[in-house]
Amino acid sequence: MAVKPIVLYSKNPEALRKKSEPVRKVNRQIKNLIKDLKDTLMAHGNGIGLAAPQINVHKRVVLVRLGGHDEEEPGPPIALINPEIVEAGDERRDFDGCLSFPGLFAETVRPHYLRVTGLDEWGKPFDRVFQGFDAVVVHHEIDHLNGVLFIDRVEKVDDLYTVREDEDGKLVRVPVTAAPR
Ligand SMILES: [Zn+2]
Repeated sequence: MAVKPIVLYSKNPEALRKKSEPVRKVNRQIKNLIKDLKDTLMAHGNGIGLAAPQINVHKRVVLVRLGGHDEEEPGPPIALINPEIVEAGDERRDFDGCLSFPGLFAETVRPHYLRVTGLDEWGKPFDRVFQGFDAVVVHHEIDHLNGVLFIDRVEKVDDLYTVREDEDGKLVRVPVTAAPR
């Protein structure tokens, strides 16, 4: 099966801005959506999260890979259906980036503690806590379901950056304000 492309912001901003609808039943269609999301995410090896609107499907389904901070190999993708934040706390600055904005990164302030309810990919209710960078990823993906993008959470343009290799092949941050236009 051909992997559906990710919706890039510049190509289709409306798709990323539209609010997603709750899933009423975890049926065959939703299972196929989760499979499409998994195929798409795993085709982008550095991705740790993906939301249905990023492949132009406006249902409240996201995928997250936990434990993906600091060079560590993240875990397998898990699906969260109709995720609802019931508790949030410990707001801190951290890394942010999005498969719909390749090559663009930022520092944003997000909760590092989240309690979330919803359904798992088998339609079973869950109520679980995400901490540290896992909470950041879950928060970023739930934002997508509401048409909110990480660029909306950037406080000042200096917090946005791209990366390039320096003379020694090390990746260095280049603020977008300093990048050649
Ligand atoms: Zn994103």
